Amino acid sequence: MANCLFCRIASGEINSRIVYEDPDVLAFMDLNPQAPTHILIIPRRHLDRLTSAAPEDAELLGKLQLAAAKIAADLKVEGAFRLVTNNGRGAGQSVDHLHYHLLAGRKLMWPPG
Ligand code: 5GP
Ligand code: ZN
Repeated sequence: MANCLFCRIASGEINSRIVYEDPDVLAFMDLNPQAPTHILIIPRRHLDRLTSAAPEDAELLGKLQLAAAKIAADLKVEGAFRLVTNNGRGAGQSVDHLHYHLLAGRKLMWPPG
């Protein structure tokens, strides 16, 4: 989608600090980090949000989670990290392209705010 910020990051039109990429998944550092480690993990293909996913997206959703685990290991935070997606404005979603936040490096409170 031409006017989607994360599609533009995925295409390389907008620069980001990439930490992982494969044919289906891209991960890059959040511009406004909420923890010492704050990575955004996205599918290259545009999906608005998790609830836009269809049964045929099951493999892609699995790849996103496996990428998150690999990134956590690569960044040596596999022992303590949080993976979260904000689905909808009321949950804090501000960019309408599915993304998972990988947060680590500080005490993560529960329940989250
Ligand atoms: P959301 O609020 O939709 O769950 O998360 C969107 C995230 O994208 C926010 O954490 C925000 O800091 C991040 N973000 C917004 N614009 C940019 C950008 O241009 N580059 C990067 N790397 N992150 C961005
Ligand atoms: Zn998009």
